[in-house]
Amino acid sequence: MQLTNRSKVASVKTLNWVEQLYLPAIIKGMIITFSHIFRKKATVRYPEQKRPIANIYRGLHVLKRDEEGRENCTACGLCAVACPAEAITMEAAERKKGEEHLYREEKYAAMYEINMLRCIFCGLCEEACPKDAIYLTDRILPSNYARNRFIYGKDLLVEGTTPETRIDISGRKKDYEMNV
Ligand code: SF4
Ligand code: SF4
Repeated sequence: MQLTNRSKVASVKTLNWVEQLYLPAIIKGMIITFSHIFRKKATVRYPEQKRPIANIYRGLHVLKRDEEGRENCTACGLCAVACPAEAITMEAAERKKGEEHLYREEKYAAMYEINMLRCIFCGLCEEACPKDAIYLTDRILPSNYARNRFIYGKDLLVEGTTPETRIDISGRKKDYEMNV
């Protein structure tokens, strides 16, 4: 019994003498090919060309620093608990005397890693963070052949201290606050 009327019975059609020349089919194919040459391309030459993306695009994470260049993250673990993909791991450490210029609070993340192969870029870590420390950005995760290159540690996640190495997330924050 047929469940739908969309099924077709396959048959081996015998070609007539015009079809056996294959010329009409070739010409038809060429017309389709040439008609596409003059159409607007659906693709762009990435990475040289990039499409504009929204401020709230959820791309590669950044661990933010405060105005004095100190790491905001206190290794509270809330982002790891909120992460549905269990992509975040960290190790907390106590700030020592003389390290006040490096870490904002008494506790900091000595190790912080995100497994980008697990991450689904949902943004829940950002929402869970009480310290303004983790944000997703408009940066696209670069491709790679080696699996271990997708484990992003602090060296790749924490923004730099100089103005040119800071990651601007002001647009994202503004849009995000408007939508909350
Ligand atoms: S974006 Fe989502 S999946 Fe990725 S690390 Fe954050 S909470 Fe986990
Ligand atoms: S990023 Fe935020 S939520 Fe995650 S451990 Fe650091 S302070 Fe806590």
